[in-house]
Amino acid sequence: MEVPINKPEKKQNIILEQQKQYLYEFWKNSRMIRNDSVLEAFLEVPRELFVEPSYRDQSYADHPLPIGSGQTISQPTTVILMLQLLDVLPGQRVLEIGTGSGYNAALLAKLVKSTGMVVTLERHSVLAEQASENLRGAGLEEVVVIAGDGKLGYAEMAPYDRIIVTAAADQVPQNLKDQLAVGGFIVAPIGATHGCEMLKLYKTAPDHFQTSSHGLFSFVPLV
Ligand code: SAH
Repeated sequence: MEVPINKPEKKQNIILEQQKQYLYEFWKNSRMIRNDSVLEAFLEVPRELFVEPSYRDQSYADHPLPIGSGQTISQPTTVILMLQLLDVLPGQRVLEIGTGSGYNAALLAKLVKSTGMVVTLERHSVLAEQASENLRGAGLEEVVVIAGDGKLGYAEMAPYDRIIVTAAADQVPQNLKDQLAVGGFIVAPIGATHGCEMLKLYKTAPDHFQTSSHGLFSFVPLV
């Protein structure tokens, strides 16, 4: 049986779709995001399923939103820029630290496609449960959500081709470096909560990394 959608909700859905399209075109036309697969993933995942219902109307506003436990879902532009840097390919194994709402994990799942794998770690078990529910709601129950300390990584499913940290740390945890495959990338904001540097580490050999810097951002801390 079809569930009838009431008029105000229908109108809000149209507005959300327009705002989503606006962001997409802004990124594409400004050439800020040149990676088509990242743009496609953005179009495919309904961000409104990952924000708290009271903030639904701001789903495509380009700023962070509260998700409970004092945490936030990151600003869309930041999420998309990080994914572009991460350069995920279909079939890859990806580890995310800081599940939050599960939105970034959903985009990662779209990027690795059905042949890849996404594991995401969240220290707040309440958020981990909510994120699992959000991912199920988006039809992405294949994402592995683990409640635990992301600084330890998740050795059980290592090595990973890509690791993304979505909270600011003083340095990249050694466990994450160890669990990355040679040839893989880690993208992580490093430094103070406000004004941390977005770093990309390329693992060239078991103990060798080439690091590049990609601008300043604000993030909740990795604790
Ligand atoms: N990627 C998220 C937003 C991340 S906000 C999204 O798409 O919604 C950063 C998250 O990192 C928060 O949920 C916070 O609880 C989590 N976090 C902070 N320190 C952590 C740690 N040591 N291990 C795992 N998660 C951590």
